[in-house]
Amino acid sequence: MDFQYSPGQEQFRQEFRSWLEANLPDELRAFDTHFDYVPETLEVFEQRRALQKKMFEARWMAIWWPPEYGGRGAGLIEQVIYDVEYRRAAAPALANFPHINQWGPTLMSWGTEAQKRRFLIPMLSGDETWCQGYSEPGSGSDLASLQTRAVDQGDFFELNGGKIWTSGANYADWMYVLARTDSKAPKHKGISCFYLDMKSPGVEVHPLVTMAGHRHFNQVFFENVRLPKENLVGPLNEGWRVAMTTLTFERAISGGSGHDLQIQRLAELARTVTLEGKPAWEHEWVRQQLAQFQIECEALKYTALRALTRQLKKLPPGPEQSTLKLTGSELSVRIARFVTELLGGYALIDAPSEPLPDAPRWYNLVLNGRMLTIAGGTSEIQHNILGERTLGLPKE
Ligand SMILES: Cc1cc2nc3c(=O)[nH]c(=O)nc-3n(C[C@H](O)[C@H](O)[C@H](O)COP(=O)(O)OP(=O)(O)OC[C@H]3O[C@@H](n4cnc5c(N)ncnc54)[C@H](O)[C@@H]3O)c2cc1C
Repeated sequence: MDFQYSPGQEQFRQEFRSWLEANLPDELRAFDTHFDYVPETLEVFEQRRALQKKMFEARWMAIWWPPEYGGRGAGLIEQVIYDVEYRRAAAPALANFPHINQWGPTLMSWGTEAQKRRFLIPMLSGDETWCQGYSEPGSGSDLASLQTRAVDQGDFFELNGGKIWTSGANYADWMYVLARTDSKAPKHKGISCFYLDMKSPGVEVHPLVTMAGHRHFNQVFFENVRLPKENLVGPLNEGWRVAMTTLTFERAISGGSGHDLQIQRLAELARTVTLEGKPAWEHEWVRQQLAQFQIECEALKYTALRALTRQLKKLPPGPEQSTLKLTGSELSVRIARFVTELLGGYALIDAPSEPLPDAPRWYNLVLNGRMLTIAGGTSEIQHNILGERTLGLPKE
């Protein structure tokens, strides 16, 4: 591995860093983009949408997308530099996160030219927002068992059923949705993928509030919804292949990020909070735990670089993506547990106080720490993938 950036790459880094310094409003700086990627209020949602528009106009959105769809056609290394700088600036998740990373490339692979021209630029600019309608009650890990039906009625498909855990459906203009179009075919064969206008008659969005009191999720019901025929993405009854494209991109971003920033902030906190009569930092086990987290962050960083090296050499994806997803999300849970040991009762107070001015951040981290071990495929499913595909263990 060559860890040095070329002068051109260094210049690219400086250019993006300076742009963010000049244009990112302080009030939009986030603690962890993964825990609040659906903003709690419409006001924050609109502020982030405005930032997205500005980034889009300066051509700083999805730089890896082809120029004809608003990107720069940037290479992998620029993409890595971009991500590092974005996190360093504590910039927030934008309106179409994570759809720009997972649905955008899916549409590029499977959409018709007309669909790409119609949807990709408004997705990037934030003029239109999206949500993902895959999971159903009873069909999460076993997604192919989904029961929502789209029945061919000649001029249109009629959609009935419902989706659950739909992040951000309350803000979305469009949903990419999986539905069964052939109920007699084996379960992976009779599914199709569509896009759905969320304002269509018969679509109802009901909130599901998380234990942190946040309306992140929704349950979405469909009753006799008319889906125009041109809303089909990819071939009829081949939606499972379309979904697999989305999930491959989703897994790559579901391990969480910013652990290193959390650990830095925890090390600062440990010097100021008192534990058993002395600064927490003076307890050996506190320093050892922080050092252990830092070591694991470094291991994650080098695993990510190994994955990048494979991509640069145009090798097929290896086990790194599932490893990153599994270890990154499990690290989030352990960091959350450590926060409770360090902060005691303060970790569960959602309001700033003198000893802990940024208490809401820790409160959210503690209560949301586990979510990444479920989103985009649970830890148990990642264990199955690694066991079966990497280690060649027999299937259960
Ligand atoms: C933060 C967050 C955001 C999400 N956003 C969306 C979204 O926008 N759109 C969307 O469609 N979905 C979304 N989801 C849903 C997510 O994809 C599902 O929750 C996930 O796939 C798990 O499905 P489930 O909840 O039905 O659990 P289940 O599949 O019912 O699993 C229950 C338990 O059984 C275990 N289990 C299941 N099968 C196996 C097996 N074969 N081997 C071993 N253990 C097994 C699981 O690991 C889990 O512990 C989101 C979830 C979260 C947490």
